[in-house]
Amino acid sequence: MKQIKKCWICRKRPAETAEHRYKKSEFVRMHGKQFQGNLVRTWTNEIRLAQGPNSNTLKYPKSLCHYCNTTLSQPYDRAFDRFREYTIANEQQLCAERIIDFQDIYGSDFDIQELHLFRYFAKQLGCKIDAIGLSVPRDLRYVFKKVHLLTRLAISFQIDENIRVSNMREWWLSSAAIVPSFARFRIPCFLWSQDFQWFRVHYSLGVKPEGKAGALWRADSRYLYLGRIQRSEEDFNSYIAERASLAQHAETVERLTQEKS
Ligand SMILES: [Zn+2]
Repeated sequence: MKQIKKCWICRKRPAETAEHRYKKSEFVRMHGKQFQGNLVRTWTNEIRLAQGPNSNTLKYPKSLCHYCNTTLSQPYDRAFDRFREYTIANEQQLCAERIIDFQDIYGSDFDIQELHLFRYFAKQLGCKIDAIGLSVPRDLRYVFKKVHLLTRLAISFQIDENIRVSNMREWWLSSAAIVPSFARFRIPCFLWSQDFQWFRVHYSLGVKPEGKAGALWRADSRYLYLGRIQRSEEDFNSYIAERASLAQHAETVERLTQEKS
């Protein structure tokens, strides 16, 4: 008998729901509320027909239970929405000063809110790891249970100056292929990144991000320095091409993994 897949966060209830790769609001902002039948850029940088904001094209495979994907994570989603709106509204200032002040985004309870934000990113990474058929490491699951985080996960943010000035900036939502590796004692490590237009989020679990990625963050500071990258035109073009081909390869891996299970 085929075993029912369990939610990777609680590991109790069945995994009946799927997380969006990028929030619905991201696509709605770009394409409007009723984008049924619209051509949208997907995470693999392909143009596809999406059947509205709930299209499966825009989601990971099912990996979460209803409770964990709604009630539990609602505050995480809200914290992310505020963060994202802030980065959009304050692009000029952020790129000039290259520092984030969480109190400026969230007000006096910024310590709780930045933890919620961190959990939003942890949820994204967990869904991505699950999508390639690997089990989500325990210290990533613990992010949802403990206030004092004992996790190897660190997030960093980076401004991509090339995307900022390119004509792709309005629709550029692109995830890198996730890179798993096995470090000491065969503990799984992961490196990943997601572009929210010109704003890049680096995920590093057990390994350091490459290049000028910005200060490492574990929901433990009010101020955070942003990394910045500006390439030659040639290097930028090869980055875009590499992103597209890596993402397409990753999608094939995900599809084969899901077909097998
Ligand atoms: Zn659950």
